[in-house]
Amino acid sequence: AKGAAMVTAVAYRLTDQARQIQETLAEFRLSKSQLLEVKKRMKVEIERGLKKDSHKEATVKMLPTFVRSTPDGSENGDFLALDLGGTNFRVLLVKIRSGKRRSVEMHNKIYAIPIEVMQGTGEELFDHIVHCISDFLDYMGMKSARLPLGFTFSFPCHQTSLDAGILVTWTKGFKATDCEGEDVVELLREAIKRKEEFELDVVAIVNDTVGTMMTCAYEEPSCEVGLIAGTGSNACYMEEMRNIETVEGNEGRMCVNMEWGAFGDNGCLDDIRTKYDQAVDENSLNEGKQRYEKMCSGMYLGEIVRQILIDLTKRGFLFRGQISETLKTRGIFETKFLSQIESDRLALLQVRAILQQLGLDSTCDDSIIVKEVCGTVSRRAAQICGAGMAAVVDKIRENRGLEHLDVTVGVDGTLYKLHPHFNRIFHQTVKELAPKCDVTFLLSEDGSGKGAALITAVGCRQRELDAQ
Ligand code: BGC
Ligand code: MG
Repeated sequence: AKGAAMVTAVAYRLTDQARQIQETLAEFRLSKSQLLEVKKRMKVEIERGLKKDSHKEATVKMLPTFVRSTPDGSENGDFLALDLGGTNFRVLLVKIRSGKRRSVEMHNKIYAIPIEVMQGTGEELFDHIVHCISDFLDYMGMKSARLPLGFTFSFPCHQTSLDAGILVTWTKGFKATDCEGEDVVELLREAIKRKEEFELDVVAIVNDTVGTMMTCAYEEPSCEVGLIAGTGSNACYMEEMRNIETVEGNEGRMCVNMEWGAFGDNGCLDDIRTKYDQAVDENSLNEGKQRYEKMCSGMYLGEIVRQILIDLTKRGFLFRGQISETLKTRGIFETKFLSQIESDRLALLQVRAILQQLGLDSTCDDSIIVKEVCGTVSRRAAQICGAGMAAVVDKIRENRGLEHLDVTVGVDGTLYKLHPHFNRIFHQTVKELAPKCDVTFLLSEDGSGKGAALITAVGCRQRELDAQ
């Protein structure tokens, strides 16, 4: 009888534990009406960003990009492109040929940016960038060419023209001093001058979302939206000039860099943010900023998972109640690990092997719980990202007074490309929340490089026209 009582007690403890874990995860499981609410709030913030009177206080900045049309195939020439702010820093040479047999040929090299450079002085950062360009030009044998350059700079910039962009704030892992409030095109030009080795003509500063949209639009003209679901999260789309009150003129359209990562910075998402989201925010380089991004981008999903695992361990539900040094380490769960853990093809034993690799000793039960935590966090990410996108496509539809809209979204980003479930859940959410839109998603092939070059080509042509 004593044995039976013990078995019952153990079983009770287990079910009670399972119930408590489910309660913890329940906060991350959003209902359709909550997601519709997220969509609605995004719509409100979009309007606030576009309107002159509210733009200043708006959190979703809706920054004009001075890109007024998608490519038409007449772009031509050799261009240099930089890609800064994603998973890798790259320098590229892009050769675009127009005409019947139009083509784009690219050469690129990836360079590391050491963390002390990302978070050192602005001068060091830009000197490092120019050092990498110099190496690339040597490698390509093109030091004397004075090429036009497009600078994909994946941070919020206040643009007053195609080739001027004042950094609003650093995001993701960057925090170099003396750059916020400065024109980053000027910072780059000055660093090139300091080096005294080569000349370049900086023609355009480009957000990665815009590069992605342009790259896809080159193949598919119905592409009028760009999305990045990677280290960071953001979108851009073609907005009517008449709605962009921060730029003169009412004719035609302009691409707007939404900077939707900052959605929620005014507290409008507080009801769905959990204490784990708050902990991630407090632990970040930019507390209080990019709250939506911190719920749905690759740089932070692993951190949310880690915060939950720490809490569950403290409560004695995981890892035998022992918080290891590993679990205390920021950034251990990179997107690629989450992707592996959540892969359906992986047996639990393999999940345990991955955790082991990270330095976490797990039991079989532990690995089941970890996998469920990861799945819950990434599902919410895909859903709220989908809710944001639903607001965007519906906005375009309403702009054009249509009952039904067919539109293509160009997409890039490690989370979208690598994660086993993110893209499916994201697509499904957009479909459910914007039923009047038929949205096709197109993966961009190297959006940052190609797109920057296409925009630079348009910029060069415009300059020639202006000079006439
Ligand atoms: C930046 C955006 C960028 C996005 C994706 C965000 O942190 O603010 O400008 O488009 O990351 O890279
Ligand atoms: Mg990128």
